[in-house]
Amino acid sequence: MRAMILLGAPGAGKGTIAEGVKAQTPYQHFSTGDMLREAIRNGTELGKRADEYIRRGDLVPDDLILGMVFERLDREKSEQAVMFDGFPRTIEQARLLDDGLSKRGGVVHVVFLLEVTRELVIQRLTGRRICRACGANYHVVNIPPKREGICDLCGGELYQRADDTEETIVNRLNVFNRQTAPLVAYYEKHGKLVRVDSSKPRDRTVAEVVGKLG
Ligand code: AMP
Repeated sequence: MRAMILLGAPGAGKGTIAEGVKAQTPYQHFSTGDMLREAIRNGTELGKRADEYIRRGDLVPDDLILGMVFERLDREKSEQAVMFDGFPRTIEQARLLDDGLSKRGGVVHVVFLLEVTRELVIQRLTGRRICRACGANYHVVNIPPKREGICDLCGGELYQRADDTEETIVNRLNVFNRQTAPLVAYYEKHGKLVRVDSSKPRDRTVAEVVGKLG
């Protein structure tokens, strides 16, 4: 199994770029944020435990995240190419991912660091809208849907995430700088990091990532 990682601050465009890459490559998309929101919607034990962390913009504990990711990988018998979006988010998660993949004959082969300024991140997150039915990403100004409040792809209702408020966004950015940013050096040391300017329009960033996947 070949694993590719999209790394970047909240609002760097991980989910949006993942959708574009998924449409053009065989990579299967795994978003830990989407999995957690699904668990909360379904009222599972995991969802109940994760809910308060997500509301505050804090990270959900590593053991819950790793259990969830490998349970899903094993259940879906993912054998080919997987793309992680929003995972790993701590050095411990990165180590456990390396271990878990190597037990399954897999490896992280490339990590794309999506780089944007703090101003752009805040502008993107406060305007972000998501389809309740299919999870597609929109932005009220940058990527507006054809009909306001309605998903272009499936006709589902668009909503604003509960953690996309200005107060929670500030905490999420601090959490990123403290707990996730050290992954840049970790993957750089392993020779896997590729930096991508993610302030460009979506299609150009997707094209750059797909091109560099080879
Ligand atoms: P995201 O959709 O990736 O922005 O994630 C939304 C929230 O889910 C984050 O602010 C965290 O509370 C939680 N979360 C998602 N992925 C992880 C992860 N890999 N480790 C810890 N918490 C996570």
